[in-house]
Amino acid sequence: MLDEVRGLSAYTAYNANVDAIVNLKAEIVQNLIDSFGADEIRRRIEEYPREIREPLDFVARLIHALKTGKPMAVPLTNEEMHRWFDETFKYDMERIGGQAGIIANLMAGLKVKKVIAYTPFLPKRLAELFRRGVLYPVVEEGKLKLRPIQEAYREGDPLKVNRIFEFRKGMKFKLGDEVIEVPHSGRFIVSSRFESISRIETRDELRPFLPEIGRQVDGAILSGYQGLRLQYSDGKDANYYLRKAKEDIMALKEADIKVHVEFASIQDRKLRKKVVTNIFPLVDSVGMDEAEIAYILSVLGYRDLADRIFTYNRIEDAILGGMIILDELNFEILQVHTIYYLMYITHRDNPLNEDELAKSLEFGTTLAAARASLGDITKPEDYEVGLKVPFNERSDYVKLRFEEAKRKLRMREYKVVVVPTRLVSNPVSTVGLGDTISTGTFLSYIALLRRH
Ligand code: AMP
Repeated sequence: MLDEVRGLSAYTAYNANVDAIVNLKAEIVQNLIDSFGADEIRRRIEEYPREIREPLDFVARLIHALKTGKPMAVPLTNEEMHRWFDETFKYDMERIGGQAGIIANLMAGLKVKKVIAYTPFLPKRLAELFRRGVLYPVVEEGKLKLRPIQEAYREGDPLKVNRIFEFRKGMKFKLGDEVIEVPHSGRFIVSSRFESISRIETRDELRPFLPEIGRQVDGAILSGYQGLRLQYSDGKDANYYLRKAKEDIMALKEADIKVHVEFASIQDRKLRKKVVTNIFPLVDSVGMDEAEIAYILSVLGYRDLADRIFTYNRIEDAILGGMIILDELNFEILQVHTIYYLMYITHRDNPLNEDELAKSLEFGTTLAAARASLGDITKPEDYEVGLKVPFNERSDYVKLRFEEAKRKLRMREYKVVVVPTRLVSNPVSTVGLGDTISTGTFLSYIALLRRH
């Protein structure tokens, strides 16, 4: 299977960002407190800013997070503050974030035949985080060219940096007279949310070449719609960008390739509904985790089932919910990843049989297990590491519950396949595992279709 997957070419868009990581030390925190003043910070913690507009907002939310030891993420809405952060902190590491970025680097690590990645913004700091082999489409003298992405950056493009402040249990510092000891290890994330980086689209000059890109690949993996806004200052809105997104998908599909959307959570119910109802019916394949099934059902009007999934987390409800989503939005295949199992739901007429679908899911969980074990996939042989990771200890329970669900639900019109996950007990990293599963399952799905 690995060789067949590596024989494919793929396109991925739209979201990639810089993840900048800071391992917080007590003296860094103490210095921040000393320069902003304990009383000022306390007052700002009371106000509890929901977004970061100035440094004091950040310091207040950080200290609050450290005090409680709870992982938190706060949006940064003032683009000017990039400078303050970069001058104040030394980053221990920068790595690629965002689904399209993670997926492009994963495919380049596997050395699949051709990897084309597209993001509407490509500042140098981002371009440099892509792995060698990733190509970026540019238009030169009226023609489509694929350039090594590291060379294709544009000076002055907006930059999305998510800053991740990692903290350890037991760290101690003083806020005025109060001694604070961090109760749990965790992370405080400052995510960039500026309007300049929320125009998720294919730039005008490239758009006419999407059919040509489609002809050069076997599949496309699209993600990042969660970064859209309902309204923009120039009067454009989510509807505008979603119309463009639909045109992109249709242009890519002129070459009759398969298109997968990797869905990520969208807080805003209105935007979630718009993305789901506009995009899903146009694509072939959708990937998500089980919480997303519930969130989507809830905006499609299935509140009771959504609540049941949130409360009980039962396989049979996830299957029922998945069948509803597949039917209401009418695409080819739904892939769901959870901690203990992966699942495919397709219509009965899918060309792949249940065994083949199971093989594809197994490929996905094996790839994720390899990444969890190693922290990253840098060469094709890394896949083998995943084969040594055992299936999780609840595998029998998963199978039992699945058999039970088959007896209870009307599933005749569908093919539903469930396989247990391979779980790494001490993962080096869990970043991007969902994206890894989806890339592995989607590419192996295409590879298996090829056999028919
Ligand atoms: P996400 O949180 O959406 O990136 O996806 C997480 C998925 O990765 C889960 O649904 C699991 O299937 C898988 N996963 C999580 N932790 C591990 C682990 N330690 N080893 C292997 N797979 C994992």
